[in-house]
Order: sequence, then C-alpha cells, then structure tokens
Amino acid sequence: MAVNPTVSFEFFPPHNADAETQLWHVMGKLVPLGPAFFSVTYGAGGSTRSRTERLVERIHTSMPVNPAAHLTCVGASQAEIETLARSWWEAGIRHIVALRGDPPKGESSYTPHSDGFRNAADLVAGLRKIADFEISVAGYPENHPDSPNQSADLDNLKRKVDAGATRILTQYFFDNDLFYRFRDAAAATGIKVPIIPGILPVTNFAKVVEFSGKCATTVPTSMASQFEGLDNDPETRNLIAASVAIEQCADLSANGVDAFHFYTLNRAALTYAICWRLGMRPNLNDSADAA
Ligand code: FAD
Repeated sequence: MAVNPTVSFEFFPPHNADAETQLWHVMGKLVPLGPAFFSVTYGAGGSTRSRTERLVERIHTSMPVNPAAHLTCVGASQAEIETLARSWWEAGIRHIVALRGDPPKGESSYTPHSDGFRNAADLVAGLRKIADFEISVAGYPENHPDSPNQSADLDNLKRKVDAGATRILTQYFFDNDLFYRFRDAAAATGIKVPIIPGILPVTNFAKVVEFSGKCATTVPTSMASQFEGLDNDPETRNLIAASVAIEQCADLSANGVDAFHFYTLNRAALTYAICWRLGMRPNLNDSADAA
C-alpha cells in the first residue's frame, strides 16, 4: 500500500446558508489530511456559476488548500468563458477542471453554443492561451456514453492532453479491473499525464444505481448484493459503504495507485475513513485555520 497517497476532494456549491455552514465543517474535517486540492463543480448549464465562483474564492482566501474550479463549455460563448478564466487567474486561482458539460435539461444530445468551445479539448486549448493554468480533464474507464468505442474515447482524451491538460480525473467506477485496463490502454495511446481514479463513497445505493445507468458505470452484482435490503437502514448501509469503498481503494493502492480524487457529495465521514485506512493521518495544526 502506498505510504502517503495524494488525495483531492470534490464538492458542489451549497444551495443555501445552512448548507454552506455544513460544508465548511466538512472541509474543516478534511483539511488536516493535507489534500492536494479542493475542487468545486460547475452546475449543469453553468447553473451554479456565481455559487461556484464564490466558493472557489472563499477556499482560496480562507483555507490552506488550493482550489480547483470546474468550468464547462455549456451555454456560454468563448469570450464569456475567457473573461471568467482571466478573472480567476487575476484572483490567484491556478487550477481549472476543464469539461464539455452535459446537455441542458430537456435536451438529449449536446449542441455547442454558436460562439462557444465545441468540446473539452477546445476549452483546454483556449485556457492554455490565457495563462499557465494547471488543467485537469475528465477520463472514462467505461467510455463516455457519447463515445462509439474505447478507441474513439481515448483519442478524445489524448486530444485533451495534447491541448495542454496536466491531469486526468476519472469518472467514478466500482470495478477496479476496468480502471486498470483503461490505465493501460491510455498509456498505450501515449498519454503520460497522471490518471487519478475518481472514488464515489456510496451514501445512497438506490440513487447511485440510477445515476450509474445514466453515466454508464457498471455496478457489480457482488456490490449490489451487499447493499440489498438496506434501503431503509442507513446506519448499516453506511458501515457497508465504508467497507466497500475501503476495499476498493486498498486494492487500487496495492496496484500502484498513489493518488485518489473523492466525490465527497459534501460529506466527510466516509471519505475521511477511507483516507485513514489508506494510511493518512491528520495534521491537526491545520484544522484551526479551516474552522
Ligand atoms: P469531452 O471530452 O469533450 O467529450 C465528451 C464526449 O464527446 C466523448 O465521448 C468524446 O469522445 C466525444 N467527443 C468530443 N469531441 C469529439 C470530437 N471532436 N469528435 C468525436 N467525438 C468527440 N459536468 C458538469 O456539468 N459540471 C461539472 O462540474 C462536472 N465535473 C466533472 C468532473 C469529473 C471528474 C468528471 C469525470 C465529469 C464531470 N462532469 C461535470 C461531467 C461532464 O461534463 C460530462 O461527462 C460531459 O458529458 C462530458 O464532458 P467531457 O469534458 O468529458 O467532454
């Protein structure tokens, strides 16, 4: 097992003041683990733009952790996106997670904005022209649903890297073999930047099954059987969730993975337990800064 894995944590912008206070406690719990960055999602269709900006800036100014701002191409012209990216650079934000984004609600397929970036590779190239950002992009161990096959999906990933991406954060997955195959196939395509597995600690199994159908993530039968019958028993479900995610991460670690990106869903407990199991210990001198 890797002694000191690198971890990063993803959050979504809170909907109201109470949720923001709660999120601040969650972040305060995770800060002492010394994460590489906290990333903040950008709601579908840019719907959370101002809340994303606010949270990223708050992390930047009051947390001892670097923020990474997610940014999508949806519903904005190139000029609007460039203005936003410039303002982030001027505010000291150095890391962007560059994404195409999903079609807005009610639309089944993605259509680029008439003056916008066509896809994530275009966006990465546009950001590279603005400033020397650290740029992460999305990778798909089970292929993106829009992709005809793995070879096309990897070609697209390579385009994003060639355009200037410095790191790949993967879609979440539960079957590690799929990740290992993806990692090997990406390396064979000539992709050399780090590929960081996205880990989703499961809090609500029924919802995860539904969402996994939409993003084409396999839920192994062995995993489903562990959660079966626990829909109305959140306490036991949480214990099972911890054991499932800990097993997954321990196996990844045993197979050479030394960095993890957690989809925290704005909760700390499961993510913290997994990090602990991976050998991480908090530096409690950091917690006072974050409170
Ligand atoms: P792209 O890399 O542009 O590709 C999407 C698909 O289109 C791929 O199948 C690709 O093969 C195909 N494609 C692209 N260009 C071409 C081309 N020229 N020719 C042929 N095929 C092409 N969504 C949000 O709205 N907000 C977020 O904050 C957010 N954060 C995310 C974080 C991570 C780590 C991940 C994995 C996903 C995130 N998403 C987010 C979801 C993401 O926006 C969707 O998965 C979206 O559908 C694809 O985005 P992308 O950047 O992978 O797109």
